[in-house]
Amino acid sequence: MAAQVLHPDHPLVQMQGRMRLCADGWIVTLFMVNQQEDRKGGRLPKDEVWVFQPKLQVHGTQPVPIFVQRKAAHADLSRMDMSTREETQTLDMLYRHQREFAVGHGISVHATLAMSPDGLPAEKAVSVETEWVPQCELPQQTPRSADDDENLAGLTLDMKGLSELPHAGLMASLRHIETAYRVWIRAEEVKLQLPMQRLEGHEEAAHRAIKNCRRALERIKAGVSLIESNPMAEEAFRFANHAMWQQRIHAIFARKVRKKEITIEDGVTLLDVPKNRSWRLFQMAFVLLNLPSLTDLHHPDRSHETDAVADLLWFATGGGKTEAYLGLTAYTLALRRLQGDMEGRSGEHGVAVLMRYTLRLLTLQQFQRAAALMCACESIRRADVVKWGKTPFRLGLWVGNKTTPNTLAAAANALRQRNVGGMPSSSGTPHQITSCPWCGTVIKEQHLQVYEAPGDIGRCVTYCGDNLGRCEFSEINAPREGLPVMVVDEEIYRRPPSLLIATVDKFAQMPWNGKTQMLFGKVTEVCDRHGFLSPEVEDGQSHPARHGLPRVTNRPHGLLRPPDLIIQDELHLISGPLGSMVGLYEAAVDELCSWVVDGLKVRPKVVASTATIRRAPDQVQKLFVRQLDVFPPQGTSIQDSFFAIQRPVGPAYPGRRYLGISGFGRRYPAALIRGYVAHMAAAQVLYNTYDRLADPWMTLTGYFNSIRELAGTRRLVDDDIRARLRDADQRGLARRRIHALEELTSRKSGTDIPKILERLEASFDKTQEARRMADRREGRAASSALPYDVVLATNMISVGVDIERLGLMVVAGQPKNTSEYIQATSRVGRSNDGPGLVCTVFNWARPRDLSHYERFEHYHETFYKHVEALSVTPFSARALDRGLTGVMVALMRLSDDHLNANLKAGEVADADPVWMQVADILSKRGLNATDNAAVAVLIQEMLKQRRDEWLSRVHNQKDHQLGYRPEGGATVGLLAEAGNQDRHRFKCLNSLRDVEGTVNLVLDQRFNGLRTDREDDHE
Ligand SMILES: [Zn+2]
Ligand SMILES: [Zn+2]
Repeated sequence: MAAQVLHPDHPLVQMQGRMRLCADGWIVTLFMVNQQEDRKGGRLPKDEVWVFQPKLQVHGTQPVPIFVQRKAAHADLSRMDMSTREETQTLDMLYRHQREFAVGHGISVHATLAMSPDGLPAEKAVSVETEWVPQCELPQQTPRSADDDENLAGLTLDMKGLSELPHAGLMASLRHIETAYRVWIRAEEVKLQLPMQRLEGHEEAAHRAIKNCRRALERIKAGVSLIESNPMAEEAFRFANHAMWQQRIHAIFARKVRKKEITIEDGVTLLDVPKNRSWRLFQMAFVLLNLPSLTDLHHPDRSHETDAVADLLWFATGGGKTEAYLGLTAYTLALRRLQGDMEGRSGEHGVAVLMRYTLRLLTLQQFQRAAALMCACESIRRADVVKWGKTPFRLGLWVGNKTTPNTLAAAANALRQRNVGGMPSSSGTPHQITSCPWCGTVIKEQHLQVYEAPGDIGRCVTYCGDNLGRCEFSEINAPREGLPVMVVDEEIYRRPPSLLIATVDKFAQMPWNGKTQMLFGKVTEVCDRHGFLSPEVEDGQSHPARHGLPRVTNRPHGLLRPPDLIIQDELHLISGPLGSMVGLYEAAVDELCSWVVDGLKVRPKVVASTATIRRAPDQVQKLFVRQLDVFPPQGTSIQDSFFAIQRPVGPAYPGRRYLGISGFGRRYPAALIRGYVAHMAAAQVLYNTYDRLADPWMTLTGYFNSIRELAGTRRLVDDDIRARLRDADQRGLARRRIHALEELTSRKSGTDIPKILERLEASFDKTQEARRMADRREGRAASSALPYDVVLATNMISVGVDIERLGLMVVAGQPKNTSEYIQATSRVGRSNDGPGLVCTVFNWARPRDLSHYERFEHYHETFYKHVEALSVTPFSARALDRGLTGVMVALMRLSDDHLNANLKAGEVADADPVWMQVADILSKRGLNATDNAAVAVLIQEMLKQRRDEWLSRVHNQKDHQLGYRPEGGATVGLLAEAGNQDRHRFKCLNSLRDVEGTVNLVLDQRFNGLRTDREDDHE
């Protein structure tokens, strides 16, 4: 193509290009070339030879669609394994309407599509043009409702309704889900015959999708039939609805009280309306489809050795996944109480549900949410002790000792230090709940009370701060019990809570700590004052009467029922080295949660959730040795899966808008500073005019890929950005002062984070501002918290931060993976009152950033398709090296009491059958997880080496004793800390996260002239 001059005044600014004909049409490449030179000492000033924001636009000579889809380099399906191939086919089908027509070079592009008469996106574009600030608005995905589907009109999703409807009405209502879903599936099948659906070439994927939908339908149907035919299941289902209803309205009530919008005296009555206590359709369906396998212990979906199912709830962030599995939790709690004794194990005691998270922040947040549910369950139980039992429903928080104390003595100590105004101790605090989940009253350290054993009950009780006895969980109404929560390890072991929330990391304690077996129901005795015992628990044989407590003597006690349900949140985070270790330790958890009923082995049910996942079947097989079932299954298009519908962007359903900025030729910080200043000053303009309606965009969330980059920007905010905001009015925006700046990173302590999150709720509001001013003038405490102008965050924010008011985020550089990008940016625009705006400032000097900028629109339209596949390899040789010892010792030590106590490590017999059992369990697990017989052989081999070494140490105890861990004196440890440099076989992890020691690389630049660009200080 001959070069063309674009403007007669500038003959050196030209358009060049080339055209090639290929099978599907022409491939056209166009460049704008600026050859005007800025010579030093030349006659033209620099900016006169530059061209600012030029635009190329290409269209046909007639206004007709002429641009066809750009052919992506097609992945070779024949070279993929089956699950990857199926997944690729499915994604190609789901995103068949999202086409890419052009890609930029050093610029982004936009294509204008022709309107297709059938309402589906057109196949050809009318024009393509370059775009400096590309944007893309992502539609919301929301649950289907009766407004979308007349077949759902008779369905009630009101939790109160579902708990109170008479049997026939309840059944009739629930059957509507089934009917409507069946009709929808039939319509999906019909689509295969409709040419405009463009399913040609996607038949295989479409048939598979429809099959999955049918399976989900059958399972929902089975759930409904169970409620119909099994009175116990019906009762538990009603309990779950009752508890969720109370949880919902009390959570709203507590929030309003906390924000001082209402007072406790107002009560919940006004809030108790259907809108506040209704399920979303997918939540209800998910609960229903899980009921049969939760109820029938021998259900193949639950207990089959290899074909048991792990149910993965897959829904966009903010969709309400937590609620769905809180519902399952409530059902499980109730069912265990109703099922009563099984195999001599009472359903009243023991951990019923294990809920696991990967991140500390998320764990704490979910702990608070679950606390409201547990209050609701307790409230119901207290009203009918005959039916629901005398043992309180409790919630336990089992996390690292940097967050919560391990012992009551440490808890008491932490509280004492706080009360005398001392520095927060580094060993965590029992003060994890800062306001009552039931009534919203503030809870301070002084409302926590440690009742130390042996004289007292051995508990650290959190009371509601209400002193007037208006709340059920205040000291007046619930002495020595308070809120149904426990955060100290010591009491959690002795009184295993119905629901245990833990970090995955904590399970590294299993081989080290014999008491952890109690969480799986392995107890030996009970003390009526302090709870259960197992060999490692120190408690006297009897205690004299004291503090009004009667004299008690320990009694033998049989095993407790092990956990029925394991919930793994944010499954996509269980990947890489952490995932591999979790997968390995899961072998022990799965086994310890299993028991024999009527001669058959019962396994725990596994439910997981995520918003972003690829290659999940493989991950689930390796982690859980279960088959994956994703809910809701996709239909033939991404727009509608029956349970979730993508809403066209409009006032009723505003989308989340993404903008891309790349400041070519400028230093990166300069571009970022301007990005911050422009957004903050523009928000101020809105705020000046619209007051609190502009609140969503007044707090800017700055996202960073590493702490190092964040720290650099923090300095800029304090300095350059602050200065520029002072005269932003000169640029047509508004002046702004930064009053409050905070960061959400791993540098913050476990006690600060909840406070930051709470303060993030504070909104910009001129009335409140005025009141705060008046407060200050009159020397009163501020009536409301000062809202943050800027919050800088790392990937810590990407999961679980659920602050509805946040609407503005600036992302510094494209995050390393798409899943992280989706998760992080989904934190803004969670409410319809404040649609989200996300601005990604790309670093043009980084090729990866540049490539994302160049394909901005198409990437965003299809970004779930770009989520990276995860890998977990729990049974790889290196993972076994690091983790097999821990799993082996955990199984030997925790399975029953004969090898439990620390010194039993030195007493294990050569012929103990446990050697065989453990080798059997682990090699079979390896085989089932990998389908590779060599893995089983390797495990057997490695276990044999460990056995030999262990036994030789047992025989060698002459001047010392062998314990699992060293105890000082003459007791040496079988297990060695991972940091230990000798790579001996009994090295055992203390954390599933620190799989590798840190290696510092020092690059000596004197000889090679390389630039260092460290990017790996990820959290
Ligand atoms: Zn309360
Ligand atoms: Zn005792």
